[in-house]
Amino acid sequence: MASASCAHLDQVEVTELPEPVEGCEECLRTASSWVHLRMCLTCGTIGCCDNSPNRHATVHFRETGHPLVRSAEPGESWAWCYVDELGLAVPSG
Ligand SMILES: [Zn+2]
Ligand SMILES: [Zn+2]
Ligand SMILES: [Zn+2]
Repeated sequence: MASASCAHLDQVEVTELPEPVEGCEECLRTASSWVHLRMCLTCGTIGCCDNSPNRHATVHFRETGHPLVRSAEPGESWAWCYVDELGLAVPSG
């Protein structure tokens, strides 16, 4: 699990979740719903997962190139790199 590595950890700026997590910012704007929440580790934007109708976390990656998200679900502390398609623990900063 430590053998595969992500080369994008230098783009991690935000690792702590906001308190509380209000929801997917774009879905709240458009009165849509989501399944699970992700947070961009570069700018802290909350987006929704790929099981959600609007997949805003992935849209955010495509629009901004911010490579890493973490789960914003309670008790979950995994991260995902879209570029490397690699799961990892949330970096400690
Ligand atoms: Zn990476
Ligand atoms: Zn959304
Ligand atoms: Zn971002």
